[in-house]
Amino acid sequence: MAAKSDTKAKCLLCNADFSKTGMTKHLKACLNKQSESQAESQAESQEKKKPFFHIVIDGLERPQYWMHLKVAADAKLSDLDKFLRDTWLECCGHLSAFNSPQGELEMKKKLKDVMKPGTELVHEYDFGDTTILRVKVIDLREGAAEKKKILMLARNDPPEILCSECGKAQSVKVCTECMWDGAGWLCKKCVKKHDCDEEMLLPVVNSPRTGVCGYTG
Ligand SMILES: [Zn+2]
Ligand SMILES: [Zn+2]
Ligand SMILES: [Zn+2]
Ligand SMILES: [Zn+2]
Repeated sequence: MAAKSDTKAKCLLCNADFSKTGMTKHLKACLNKQSESQAESQAESQEKKKPFFHIVIDGLERPQYWMHLKVAADAKLSDLDKFLRDTWLECCGHLSAFNSPQGELEMKKKLKDVMKPGTELVHEYDFGDTTILRVKVIDLREGAAEKKKILMLARNDPPEILCSECGKAQSVKVCTECMWDGAGWLCKKCVKKHDCDEEMLLPVVNSPRTGVCGYTG
């Protein structure tokens, strides 16, 4: 897949664009700003403050896919697993696991019991055609409780993946029959000339699992 390794994203708190490395730095400042303005508006309702983790997740082999999350500290690993499945992974209900350097973690564990700033975990989805994600904890903070346990703070824009036939246009389909050694990525024009069975084609979607198993987004 001829993808550029750097992708940008919009900060969903303030709508500004940043690169992958710029976003980590920016979100620290942006979350500070948010908690300051919340502190002003809720000076008398301190009890509403809840601890949350600022987490960044990316694809181990496809790091151009990444996202930043705000996750309640008392959310369970199973909540995070479900979020990752819904956003990036789910194709046919494969098994998944979180691993720390010490081994596999139980899904019913709460994040606050297995994470602190600096913690790095690995998430694996599907033990056949595995999609491996890196989960890194940037910070533990306090802020106003959100309705949802997990909130997206930023997510990469779709990376440019040029057609492997003509090399000119963005690919829209990937042929799972041909997708070895970077081949099989097809733009709108080239997909019409492609010989393989139509059922071998998957849509190109904004996920580190694009083109894998039956993943259609
Ligand atoms: Zn921002
Ligand atoms: Zn599958
Ligand atoms: Zn093409
Ligand atoms: Zn093909």
